[in-house]
Amino acid sequence: MLYRTEGIVIKNIEYGEADKIATIYTKDYGKVQAMAKGVRKTKSRFGSSLEILTDAIFLLYQGRNIDTVSQTEIVESFFPTSKEVIKFAFATHCAEIVNKLTEEREANITLFNLLKIVLHYLRETKDPKLLTLSFQWKVISILGYKPSFDLCCRCNKGVEDQKIGGYFSIKDGGIICQNCVSKDNRDYRQISNYFIRLVKKILITPLATISKHTIPQGRVEELEEITELYLAYHAEKGFKTNDFLKYL
Ligand SMILES: [Zn+2]
Repeated sequence: MLYRTEGIVIKNIEYGEADKIATIYTKDYGKVQAMAKGVRKTKSRFGSSLEILTDAIFLLYQGRNIDTVSQTEIVESFFPTSKEVIKFAFATHCAEIVNKLTEEREANITLFNLLKIVLHYLRETKDPKLLTLSFQWKVISILGYKPSFDLCCRCNKGVEDQKIGGYFSIKDGGIICQNCVSKDNRDYRQISNYFIRLVKKILITPLATISKHTIPQGRVEELEEITELYLAYHAEKGFKTNDFLKYL
């Protein structure tokens, strides 16, 4: 069976002499894996359409074990050159997050659109780290892991703003009230009010708007640490690109 869909290449590995197995996050079918035969030959009819972070229209043949790429038409190549190493690293990290947090053949058009938007604005923004972290919180929200910031995630009572910040549980998925912390003080971290306000703001602000802002390095650290821990908890294991991004 042949099928046609738009998709973004989120991963690819070389296979055999001249082939590639691409992981494509498609608009209509979610994540699919497809074999691109002969793609590494210089005169391949696929051109650069199977490069990572390429948005293309794919004509795919559904096979018994793995699908095969039949035709491609590039919509947009995000980061086609290696000039912007740092932005490329953040973009690859976004692609990897989508790969890690999704199952094959589970369509999610909102997530597809979000990936496309973040790749677009990563090219323009002055703060790729802030934009990538914001993307991560939006993915968390789309996939239904959004933490609770207004109600205690253990007892469900309203949590009032405290001058000293709050307590956040990665495992329980949100803020814990003073009362619950005093009863059981396992599995939480202290967080600042700045963090709470920032994540709440990110969740309601479009990436296009966030891409015009920057935040100072000193203030992004807490956000970065908790975001990665929270996502890693949901992805079960850490992301391998993190080790590189930590040094930027
Ligand atoms: Zn509580």
